[in-house]
Amino acid sequence: MLSLDERKRRALTIQSWLQNQYPDPKPPLDHSNAYTFLVAVALSAQTTDARVNLVTPSLFAEASTPKAMERLGAARILHHIKTCGLAPTKAKNLEKMAKILNERYSGQVPDTFEALESLPGVGHKTASVVMSQIFNVPAFPVDTHVFRLAKRWKLASGKSVEETETRLKQVFPEEEWSRTSLRIIFYGREFCSARGCDGRTCPLCVELNGRKEPRASSRLPKKKTQPRKRPSPSN
Ligand code: SF4
Repeated sequence: MLSLDERKRRALTIQSWLQNQYPDPKPPLDHSNAYTFLVAVALSAQTTDARVNLVTPSLFAEASTPKAMERLGAARILHHIKTCGLAPTKAKNLEKMAKILNERYSGQVPDTFEALESLPGVGHKTASVVMSQIFNVPAFPVDTHVFRLAKRWKLASGKSVEETETRLKQVFPEEEWSRTSLRIIFYGREFCSARGCDGRTCPLCVELNGRKEPRASSRLPKKKTQPRKRPSPSN
């Protein structure tokens, strides 16, 4: 693990490059209020944002409030979201979540990590996205792209999501946590594949680690190949 100072130096380079590339990052999930945002984020687990944006218009046309979602019920919710990953579980969770919001929170989305994380289907990442985007509470959501890149950029060890979140919060300014998380996700989607790499292929990584030097052998002039001597017909 690099020293805190070295990680902060790398974070500065990363932040300025990402700010330049993605100046005004917006959450890519369509929504019209805090509740539909919470539902969209919960649906995005194991599913692409594009897929979520395809299924939510018909779902939200029938239910854009917890009351309407509870009335709709799991079977009908499933009908709308069936092309998402883990759809049956998500449908049941959305019905249960709506019931709890109606009974305990007067149909509102609660504004604490504790309350959000106690809802069915809402983990720490979903709560972090909602807290930062809806309630402007500093949070650093760590999804698969953020987790992978934090390790490859040597900002975290990659042992756990919790460790990664803690390390990233140490090196990026608090007022930029949420935007930085979004920017890293955008960069990850655009450039970073899950397969292994040498860390010197894509633009920001080149800036961070330097460009890969061509191997010494490949700089040598190619050996001229001699035309093969044809055996003489007499042999
Ligand atoms: S060089 Fe490309 S693939 Fe490798 S870590 Fe950087 S962004 Fe990811």
